[in-house]
Parts: sequence; structure tokens; C-alpha cells
Amino acid sequence: MNSKTNNDTIDKLLTSLFGREKAIVEGSDAAAALGRFIAEIPGGFLIYRADDNRILYVNDALLSIYKCATREEFYELTGNSFEGMVHPDDVEGVQKTIFEQIESNHDDLDYVEYRIIRKDGAVRWVEDYGHFVHSETAGDIFYVFISDATEKINRRFELIDSDRKKEKKLRTLIEEYDKERKLISQEHLQRLEVIEGLSVNYESICYADLDADLILPYRLSSRLEKQFEKKLQVKPLRWFLRDYAETWVHADDRARFTSNTSPEYIRKKLAESKTYYLNYRCIKDGETQFIQLRMVNVGENARVGKLVMGFRKVDDEIMQEMKQRQLLQDALNAAKLADAAKNAFLSNMSHDMRTPLNAIFGYTELARKNADDREALLSYLDKIERSGRQMLGLVEKVLDFSYVKSAVTLSTSDLCSISAVVEDILDGIKPRAEHKNIKITTDVNITHDKILTDAERFKQMFAHIADNAVKYTGEGGRVEITAIEKEGATEEYASYAFTVKDNGIGIDPDHLDRIFDPFEREYNTTHGGEYGAGLGLPIAKRIAESMNGNISVESELGKGSTFTVTLGFALPCEEYVKQEPPKLSSTGKKILLVDDNEINVDIEAEILEDLGFDVDIATNGKEALDKVTASVDAPYDVVLMDIQMPIMDGREAAKAIRALENGKLASVPIIAVSANAFESDKLESMACGMNAHLSKPIDEAVLLDAISKVCIK
Ligand code: ADP
Repeated sequence: MNSKTNNDTIDKLLTSLFGREKAIVEGSDAAAALGRFIAEIPGGFLIYRADDNRILYVNDALLSIYKCATREEFYELTGNSFEGMVHPDDVEGVQKTIFEQIESNHDDLDYVEYRIIRKDGAVRWVEDYGHFVHSETAGDIFYVFISDATEKINRRFELIDSDRKKEKKLRTLIEEYDKERKLISQEHLQRLEVIEGLSVNYESICYADLDADLILPYRLSSRLEKQFEKKLQVKPLRWFLRDYAETWVHADDRARFTSNTSPEYIRKKLAESKTYYLNYRCIKDGETQFIQLRMVNVGENARVGKLVMGFRKVDDEIMQEMKQRQLLQDALNAAKLADAAKNAFLSNMSHDMRTPLNAIFGYTELARKNADDREALLSYLDKIERSGRQMLGLVEKVLDFSYVKSAVTLSTSDLCSISAVVEDILDGIKPRAEHKNIKITTDVNITHDKILTDAERFKQMFAHIADNAVKYTGEGGRVEITAIEKEGATEEYASYAFTVKDNGIGIDPDHLDRIFDPFEREYNTTHGGEYGAGLGLPIAKRIAESMNGNISVESELGKGSTFTVTLGFALPCEEYVKQEPPKLSSTGKKILLVDDNEINVDIEAEILEDLGFDVDIATNGKEALDKVTASVDAPYDVVLMDIQMPIMDGREAAKAIRALENGKLASVPIIAVSANAFESDKLESMACGMNAHLSKPIDEAVLLDAISKVCIK
């Protein structure tokens, strides 16, 4: 197409386009001028058909956009179609956009940007302002202004690119920030969990700032909601503490609470240690609750300003603490009492032992001086013996104390006569009673006189009570001993009440419930000049209890006391009662006396020989063992064995004898005779195979009784 045809075309087109103004334009130079104008405008211009995209017109500027020297070159490059002008990758998008714009626009205008491939192969961006025109004559056409927009679009791309880069950078920053935030919130969460965990016991937790005078709750109890109205809002600290104290704190604890929660006090306490607490009572719904407020310094150590306050109920703990404190107090009191009692005991003992000892030494001296005066000598010896017995009584009581403390199984099979026991008791107290001119009466009102019990212990218990009656009754007083059998006895069992009544000094009511405690002696009795260890009643009580009985006391100060023991005993069958007690004939009985102490040997050998025994002597366990081993032809009837001896002690010897091959020799009766008189010593002797255990000094009757028991068995 040459420029003439091109101009013709444009002329036609313009006529068809501006048909309505044809009159103005037609035949005038105006159309030619317009055609020239279009051909020469600096921007590209083209007209193409809408139905098949065939290009109807292009101006020179458009050719140069496509770097085509001629229209022929351009038509060749583009195939003479609008499609051919557009970069193959953009064609579809461009056509779609144009169509959509024309559809939606009333003015049939469109604007698109797309790439082109120039004749020189370069890819460029163009802007395309199109106008769709429907004309009766020319058909549907587009006339389009095109300009090279490569620089502009590249710039835009650059801008977009840099925006993208910026956005990317921003996004990376945001991501990093997010990550960090996540970490922080995770850490926060963990911290919160730790706080929650540590503070489970606290019903309210607040953060407080002393400098700023504020308090911020973290968790609120129903109590604290009163101050914070359920909201976790900041309040002035001083106001809060005042209001809290007035609303909740028990009136008796309020002043202490207020002073111990003043900022000055808190600062002082938290400077001393990281945490401090305060216990007080609160009143809620009319009920008293124990609360603990714990404060922890969470600011800098050097300066106390920020702290956490935790409130928790401590009812159970406080109760427990109070109980614990009471227990400790009781234990302390008991220890103090025990200590005081022990001190009193020691000073009493020292006094009570010195008195008979002084007498013994004094009378011995007198006896020596008056050795020629037989009557005086005998009287001194009597006095020496009495003092010795007094001392022995004391020592025995102390020893028996070990019995009081330990559980001991009593024998239940000794045949014992109640009336005989009462007689024995009477015999025991008579001398002292006569001395004080005290009248003693006895009344035994029983059906079953014979009982089965631990006779020795039963007597001992009775004796302690009866002794006291005489001890604590003054000149010319009265002591009544009664034994009554209760109703309802069976063939096997009977119950009794034993009373010892005196009209003596009586017992102070304050002291009454302690008289059964060891070492317990009433002040006025210790000062009354009566000796004693404060052990008689504890021993008696323990014995009664061991026999499943009990002791009670009624007493009035200055009027007297009545001790009542109630006990039940097994009754022996009739045949047993009628049996004659076995009698021991000591004449010619071979006895081996084992003792390393010469004096003891002398005394004991003489007593035994006087009783008719044939006495042999060994001075230690080894010698005793040898003698027993060698006694095949003439075995011993009994061995009296001391415990503490050199070379071989009594227990070892007993064990060795029991282990002898000769059965007859191995079963020789052995009686331990020892200064060790504790219950545990007795048990140990038995465990070594000995038959009985007697304590020194030896009482003739007791020794004979023991020998007869072990020999006759
Ligand atoms: P003691 O060796 O001091 O007599 P007890 O244990 O036998 O020890 O008695 C304890 C205390 O009980 C006595 O010190 C005395 O204060 C009081 N007591 C016991 N029996 C009587 C009594 N019959 N009359 C007055 N006080 C008594």
C-alpha cells in the first residue's frame, strides 16, 4: 500500500466515521488535513477491523515503533493483522482485556499495555488507547493510538521490583519479628505456667510497686475482689492495704497487719531476705480464717521497690503448727518436770541414804567402843541392821523403778493366801506404827482366801501403800487395812477390793493426780522429814495394772487418805489348795557356792553351813565349771552362782554347765546370786539357763525358798 492509497483509505474511513459531519468535512480540505495530521502525529496510529483484526491503516510513527522502514515491511512483520502486532505471549490477554473493556464501557474505549517484537527483534512495551467504532459503511473497527512505553513500563517494573524488594525485606523483618514474638510469648507462657505452678496455693497474687505506690492484681480471690471489683486494674497500694485491713483483717490482728505491711517495714524485711511472710486472721462470712501473706522482692536486690504479694489460706497448716507447738510445749514442760523431779529425787536420795549410813557408821563405832558390854552391843547391832534394811528398802525401790518402766510378765501361778499377805503387811508396818503410836486395824472379809498370783509382786504393791499410810500419818493416828471379796465369784475367779485408809496428812488436790508419777513427792512430805524416793506408788500402780487391776485414791489435806486397789485373781482348784507345801531338807545337801568376793563367801558359807548344807566353794566361773564337771560321783544339789567374776563370769559358767555332755551334771539347778538386781539382769540369767535369780544381800528365807523351789522340782 503506497501513501496515496493510504490517504484514500483514511479519507474513506474518516467519511464513514464522521458521517454525520460529512457536510462539514466532505469536499473540503479538512479531511485531507486531518489525514495529514494523523499521518504525521508523533505517536503511532492504526485502524483495524474488529471482526478479523485486519489492519486497515497505520501511520508512519507506528512503522517506526516497529522499526519498519515501509508499510510492506510492517505488513510482512505483522501479517497485516492486529494479532500479529502483539507479542505472541500477550495476544490472548490483550484481546480478552480489550473485549472486556469495550463490553463494560459506554464510550467504547479501551486501554492495554502489551509487548511487541520489533523488526530488529527487540521486545518493547507499548501503550494502546483503542476506540471501538461501529459504522454502517466501514463495519466494526478499532482505531488505536499506540506509543512506545518501554521506558515508562520498565521504570514501573523497576519501581515494582524495588517495592517488591522492600516488601520482601519488610516481610522478612515481620517474619523475624513474628518468630521472636512467638518465642517471647512462648517464654511468657512458660513463665506464666511457672508462676501458676508455683502459686497454686495462693488464692490472690498481686504485683506491687512501693515507689509508685501501686498494686496490680494478677489473680484475685473473692476476698480481694472487694478491693478490685473483679477487674485486674491498678490501685494505689497504700489505699489497698488500708482498705483490706479494715474490711477483712481480724480486729485483734489489724494493728500488727498494718504496721507489718507499711512500705517502710516491707523494705526493711525484704532488704534482710528475699521473702518474708505474715500470718493473720481474716473474718469472712462470720468465719475466722488463717491467712498468710507472703511478699517476695522481685526488683533489684539492693533496693526494694517492686514485689509480689501472695495471699493464701493456711488454716490447716496453722492448726497443725499450733498443735505441734503445743506438743513441743508439753514435751518441754514434761522434760522440765522430769528434770525437776530427778533433781529432787537425787537430793532426797542423797539425804535418805546418808541418814541410815551415818547410823551404821555411828553405831559400829559405838559397838566397837562397847565391845565388852554384850547388851549394848546387841542393841547397836539391832540398830545397824535396821539402818541397813532401811537403805536396802531404798535401793530396792530404785531398782524396782526399772520394773515400773519396762513391761514384765508376772507369774500367775504362785499359790497365795490373802489373809497371810495381809498379816505379812501388818508385820511389816507394825514396828514403825508402834514407834509412832499408830493404831492399825485389819478387816479381811473374803470367801476365797487362796488365790493364784505373783505373790512377791502382790505383796510388794500392798506394802508400798501400807508403808505410806504409816509414813504419812502422825503420832497417835489410825490406819485401817481391809480386804473385801466382791460378789459374783466363780469357781475359777474372784474379785477383791483392798483398801488402806489413814487419817494422816492427806494429799493436796493439786498434787493428787501426780502422786503416781515417778519421783513425785509432795513438798510438805519431803519437808516433813520422811524419806522416800517417790517411787513406791508408781511401782504399786504398775504392778496393779500388770495384774489387770487398778489403784484409786481419795484424800483430803489434813484429814487423811484412802487408797483402794481392785484386783481379780484366778482361784486354784481344791486339790491344789490341799497339797502340803513341799518341805526342803537341807541336811547333807551338796551346794557349790561360787563367788570371788571373800567377805560374801565367808558370810554366805557360814549361813548355809548353819542351815545344814554341805558347802563347797569356787571363786570364779571356770573353777565352778571344773568342779561341776568333776562331780560325777557326788553331784551338787544346787549351785549358787555370782555373776560378775574374773576369768569366767557366772553367765558363761552357767551356759558351759548347761552344755555339759553328762545330762545329770548339765541339769544341776543353778541360782544366780547377784548385786545386779534389775529386771533385765534377771531375764538375762534365765536366758543363760539359770533357774532363779536372787539379789544380794541374801535374805535367808528367800534363799531357802528359792533353793527348795529349784531342788524339789
Ligand atoms: P515416797 O517414797 O515419797 O513415799 P510414793 O511414790 O510412795 O513415794 O508416794 C508419792 C507421794 O505421794 C509421797 O511423797 C506423798 O507426797 C504422797 N503420798 C503417798 N501416800 C500418801 C499417804 N498415805 N498420805 C499422804 N501422802 C501420801
